[in-house]
Amino acid sequence: MADLSQVALLGMDRTELEALVDSLNESSYRAKQLLAAVYRQRVESIAQITTLSQHLREKLAEKGVSIGSPRVEQRFVSQDGTVRYLIAFADGQSVEAVWMPEGDGGEAGDGSEAGEQAERFAESGSFGTSGAKALSAGEQTGALKRGATQKQGQNLGRSTICISSQVGCAVDCQFCLTALLGVKRNLAAGEIVGQVCAVLKDQEVSPPEDRINLVFMGMGEPFLNYENFVKAVRLLVEEVGIAERRMTVSTAGIVPRIHDFGGETIRPKLAISLNASNDELRTRLMPLNKKWNLEVLMAAARAYPLRTREWITFEYVLLGGVNDGPENAKEVAELLRGMRCKVNLIALNPGPGIEFTTPGAERVGEFQTILREAGIPAFVRRPRGRDIYAACGQLKRTVEIATAPQP
Ligand code: SAH
Repeated sequence: MADLSQVALLGMDRTELEALVDSLNESSYRAKQLLAAVYRQRVESIAQITTLSQHLREKLAEKGVSIGSPRVEQRFVSQDGTVRYLIAFADGQSVEAVWMPEGDGGEAGDGSEAGEQAERFAESGSFGTSGAKALSAGEQTGALKRGATQKQGQNLGRSTICISSQVGCAVDCQFCLTALLGVKRNLAAGEIVGQVCAVLKDQEVSPPEDRINLVFMGMGEPFLNYENFVKAVRLLVEEVGIAERRMTVSTAGIVPRIHDFGGETIRPKLAISLNASNDELRTRLMPLNKKWNLEVLMAAARAYPLRTREWITFEYVLLGGVNDGPENAKEVAELLRGMRCKVNLIALNPGPGIEFTTPGAERVGEFQTILREAGIPAFVRRPRGRDIYAACGQLKRTVEIATAPQP
């Protein structure tokens, strides 16, 4: 029989598992049991799949089939409750994932603080959409069940997991620590899903009973690992049980993939990292702007097929004295005029090797006000886990630094 020693179950979908089970002359309902074990129970070894017969467990183990669960190598806990995980794969490469018990606004639209603000903005007429959604039955049960044991002050409705799509990143944004690594390799779909499983397990939470938001905003550029990213999304929705409306993917602006993404039947919400208000500035900060400039990026954003009550999020990292002036805010307002969108402002999270400075709260506030006065919903993202290098743009596998100096 075929050598299965390279086969990892994590990352396989129903069809692939059915083919595997079939190749072992087992009946197809075994595939269902494997799906449940891998994605719902999140077992870490074949031996733990107690729904299977002893015989089949032995057969799988003999052939060298593994679950393929990544290993949590290190765990850094921030003063604000954020946890940064260093997660290692079979070949020794590693990425980071972040658990934010109260979100950071990046997942806005999902019941997070920024989401609720956005919904209120919507009710006031700017979007012409209706307000917050009620909890589903499953979510209510989860909320009740958890009520008794929940740590004080923790709001699981906002909990957000931020995951990586590549080891390192090729995009080379000048203000981002991940860029300093360069790109090492793409993650397989199972490695993307595996990060979520590892964090859910460690935090002892389980969707859909627990409301979990997911952002593809960790290391790497998801749209440069498009096929694996799309497969991971499907597994996360269909098997792990996280609703697509609770997921947001952020791209630095890979325009052809923005077009493709609009055609996907299962797709998270879209965020675009804008970060500059004109081409000259954007090319300086994000060299990929030479390839896809603001004109083609904005054309793709305007052509993007939004669903009901959906809007595009633009992220804008504010760099002191570089892109954070009132004239920049006015240019951004001009770029986004008439679009169903909102802006998440992120004051630079500093890091070693990053030459920019973090603007003060007042300057950030002025930028926000100009956008709002132009009718564009704008929110300031709360930095989460800056002290442990877990905030936006700080993911660089800084194993040597457990605690960063406060800005
Ligand atoms: N590569 C994708 C996914 C990463 S998302 C993308 O670029 O969209 C990470 C977000 O953090 C991006 O919006 C990025 O602009 C922002 N970011 C990067 N470096 C940062 C820093 N040092 N401080 C604050 N935000 C940063």
